[in-house]
Amino acid sequence: MSGAIEDHVDLFIGGQSVPGARNDRRPVLNPATNAPLATTAVGSADDAHHAMEVADRAYRESGWAADDGARRAKALYRLARSLEEQSEAFALLETLNMGKTLKESRGDIGYVVRTLEYVAGLADKIEGETIPVPGSRLDYTLREPLGVTVHIAPWNYPLLLAVRSVAPALAAGNAVVLKPASLTPLTALKFARLAKESGVPDGILNVVVGSGSEVGEALVVDPRCRSVSFTGSADVGRRIAALAAERIIPLTLELGGKSPVLVCPDADLDRAAKGIAFGIFGNAGQMCWAGSRLIVAESVRDELVRKVSALAEGYRLGPGVEATSDMGPLVSSDQVERVLGFVQDARDQGARVVVGGARSDDPALSAGNFVRPTVVADVPVESRVVRDEVFGPVLSVLSFGSIDEGVRIANDTRYGLFAALWTKDLATGLSMARQLEAGMVSVNEAPNTFPQTPFTGYKESGVGFEQGRDAIYAYTRRKNVMINLGGGKPRKA
Ligand code: NDP
Repeated sequence: MSGAIEDHVDLFIGGQSVPGARNDRRPVLNPATNAPLATTAVGSADDAHHAMEVADRAYRESGWAADDGARRAKALYRLARSLEEQSEAFALLETLNMGKTLKESRGDIGYVVRTLEYVAGLADKIEGETIPVPGSRLDYTLREPLGVTVHIAPWNYPLLLAVRSVAPALAAGNAVVLKPASLTPLTALKFARLAKESGVPDGILNVVVGSGSEVGEALVVDPRCRSVSFTGSADVGRRIAALAAERIIPLTLELGGKSPVLVCPDADLDRAAKGIAFGIFGNAGQMCWAGSRLIVAESVRDELVRKVSALAEGYRLGPGVEATSDMGPLVSSDQVERVLGFVQDARDQGARVVVGGARSDDPALSAGNFVRPTVVADVPVESRVVRDEVFGPVLSVLSFGSIDEGVRIANDTRYGLFAALWTKDLATGLSMARQLEAGMVSVNEAPNTFPQTPFTGYKESGVGFEQGRDAIYAYTRRKNVMINLGGGKPRKA
């Protein structure tokens, strides 16, 4: 066990740490060594229903929903300040549990702080409108919280992606039950305790660790669940959508991507190469927004592939806690097998592995889940590595003759989360940005996003919006109120 963290952490329900109905414990591993880092309590369906009951009571009785939004804003600002003060401890915990480098974890925690500040600023600006209607009437709308909202988070940005949906739900006055991924629950549990210290009432933020198939599904089917937000794989997203349809509750799904990075002949190739490497090797490629398909103009393909491959070879692999590491391990040994399976499949299809394509050969890293940055060229467009989400540091190279062909290849995917394009010509950039079937487009930089910009996908990348103003509205419902003022004869229209 590491001295930097607690040896054991319980579930967090009703403002208290609780062991769970089965009193079950499970080790959480450090992906850099696969050694146990701590244990957590493992919740059951009973714990899920208990958390929903507690959240429902807190929603109705704590005053959180009824309070002036400014009071919620104050608690969320306090939480942002406390998190900022403890950011090093949170970043270290994230790195030890998930594997990413400390630099990346620090970036994640900073993003969470900004997210809290952004939604805190909106908490007292959730406004209705007055609508002119005929006759002697007053018509207005109210935006009300939904009640208890369920949030199911993945392991690739454990705290960031959890808080991305939890924070706007809290700002809007809801009570929340969060289920983090079993692989990476530690920062979410620590965060919930900090929220209590910052003034979020007991029962308003609950965290239940446990398997998705048991705890996750129990939360969604619980009759008190008024909406569900899920980030993860498309298959589980489909399952959750089916459960939500049975219950007729709204949902937000963020299901990953196969994002294209288009490089035109006139692009600044040095800048593009750095952006491409950052967009696929950052977080060891475990990003829904990873730019995993490089689609480059034939005339500059060889030069660009050389530049990106040179950058890939320069990445220093190592435990995320070491300052010299540019890339940490993958989250689990299963994920290593999965990623290398894609590379082997590409080889079998006749692709050329330009660089990487294997575990690290450094004996000092042999116990951990280290996979070298990989560039795969001459890939058949129908191969799995081009069509499916790899979720690892693997870049597939495709090429185009004309811009129209490039756009067609970019859009030839069932996903549509991000697209990036590199060109010095503004007219080409504007035209391609319109044609690309993606919820978010970056021009002349790697896929990028901020708490105030909408995060959304086309096609199988998801449903609904995270971030920005849309996110807070997603956790409210609109009510229309019409008052007959009694003066004169009411008329219909
Ligand atoms: P999952 O989709 O299985 O896991 C994401 C979250 O959903 C976890 O909290 C998980 O819980 C939970 N979950 C799993 N099954 C259910 C269920 N039936 N009902 C409710 N919740 C459920 O992703 P994996 O961890 O298996 O990763 C597999 C692949 O998914 C990755 O390689 C990547 O391609 C994609 N992915 C995409 C992400 C994104 O950001 N869009 C994030 C993570 C993965 P638990 O794990 O505790 O059982």
